[in-house]
Amino acid sequence: MIQVIGHTNPDSDSICSALVAAEWLKNARGEETVALAQGEVTGETAFILEQAGVQAPAIYDTVAGQKVWLVDFTDLSQAPAGIEDAEIVGIVDHHRLGDITTANPLEAWIWPVGCSCTILYNLHKLESVEISRPQAVLMLGAICSDTVAFRSPTCTQKDIDAAADLADIAGINLEAFCDQLMRVKTNLNGLSIESLIDRDLKKYPFEGESVVVGQIEIASFEQTDDKMADLQQELKVRCEKDGLKLAALMVTNISTSTTQLLFQGEWEVRLAEHASEDSMLVMADTLSRKKQAWPWLQTVLAG
Ligand code: MG
Ligand code: MG
Ligand code: MG
Repeated sequence: MIQVIGHTNPDSDSICSALVAAEWLKNARGEETVALAQGEVTGETAFILEQAGVQAPAIYDTVAGQKVWLVDFTDLSQAPAGIEDAEIVGIVDHHRLGDITTANPLEAWIWPVGCSCTILYNLHKLESVEISRPQAVLMLGAICSDTVAFRSPTCTQKDIDAAADLADIAGINLEAFCDQLMRVKTNLNGLSIESLIDRDLKKYPFEGESVVVGQIEIASFEQTDDKMADLQQELKVRCEKDGLKLAALMVTNISTSTTQLLFQGEWEVRLAEHASEDSMLVMADTLSRKKQAWPWLQTVLAG
C-alpha cells in the first residue's frame, strides 16, 4: 500500500493532489494507494470536496515503514512524522526543491507551474488516463485556489489550459466557479486568531534557525483591521513557545493584490528599515509567498 500525502497545515492543493495522485496511481499503474492528510481541511477545501462529491482524506498516523508519494512539498519541515523511516517512491510538486533525500531512485515530477494538480492533469494526458468528473473538480478547485483564480504571478499558461479543459470535463462554468471559490477562500468567519495563523503556516529553516511564514487571503482589509493587534500578539507567543527567530504572517488582499506583512521575533530588526509601522510592512502587487514574499524575505534576512 502506497500512502499519498501533502504538506502540514494542508491547503486545497495538498488535499486534492493527494486524492488525485492516489487515484491516478491506481488507474495508471495498478498500485494500491491511500490518500492521507496532515490535518483537517479548510472551509475552502471542504467546498471543493463537496462540489466533487469526494470525502476528505483520513488524517495520517505515521509514514514510518511505508512507501509514500509526496505531493505539493519537498521540505522536511513540512513532512509527516516518520518520514526518515519511510520509502519515498514518488513526488509531485511545484515548489523550489527542498531538503528531502531518498535512499533509492524515485519518480519525481517537479514543474515550475502554479499548482501540483496542473502536473497531475498533464500526467493523466501523458499516460492516456481518463479523467472522471470528481477528479476534474478536485484538480480544477486546487488550480483556481493555488493561482488565486489565475491572478498570482505563479500562474502559467499550463495552469490556464489545464483549468479550461478540466472545467469542460466537469461541466462547470469556470468564471462562476472561481467567484464562488474566492468567496469561500476569503471567508474568515468563525476562525480564531490561532487558526488564522495556523491554516496556511509554513516553516522554513534559515541560517540554522527556524522561521515561519503564514498567509491569510482576504477580500478587504476591513476583515482584518480589528484583528491585527491580536495576530501580532499570537505571532510573538509562537516565537517564544517554538523558539523561532521570526514569525511572519502575510495578510493578502486578493482584490487589490496588496499584502500586509506582520512580523515578530528577534530578527524583526532585520526588517525594520522596510516597516511602515511597528512590526508591519506593506508589499504592493504581492499575492504569492513562494514566488514573491519568501524570496524577498530571504534576501532581506540575510542582509
Ligand atoms: Mg500547498
Ligand atoms: Mg500547491
Ligand atoms: Mg498556497
